[in-house]
Amino acid sequence: MTRAQLKELRRAKIIHLSQLSALENRRDEVMDFNKYQELAERTANKSEKDSDNFRFANFGMGISGEAGEVTDLLKKVVFHGHNLDREKLAKELGDVLWYLATIATTANLSLEMIAEKNIEKLKQRYPEGFSETRSINRQAEGN
Ligand SMILES: [Mg+2]
Repeated sequence: MTRAQLKELRRAKIIHLSQLSALENRRDEVMDFNKYQELAERTANKSEKDSDNFRFANFGMGISGEAGEVTDLLKKVVFHGHNLDREKLAKELGDVLWYLATIATTANLSLEMIAEKNIEKLKQRYPEGFSETRSINRQAEGN
């Protein structure tokens, strides 16, 4: 929730001043995309080979490996009868997120901007939510 949204709630007298203060304090603890990206960079490999190309190669391979770990975990649930280990899935998704963040940082892209542009694109593609018809027509149009 943004500061402007909190003010709007207060202005509309939807929440009490003490509640507003509590929400504002909690807001500082919330992990947003950009804060995550900054914290992920703290543990990126800072070797002598730390050029952009080295980072792209390292993190590009890393994200693929971690996506493979997610895939393997899901495969075992769907095809091998394993129970879904949600904690393990969360850890592997977090590993994918870490590589996503470090690739974005190397390319000087913010995760927040990437997330916003992705949602914007999907809103245009599927204004009423996912639609098989729109998906099929999209493929037929080649975009
Ligand atoms: Mg992993």
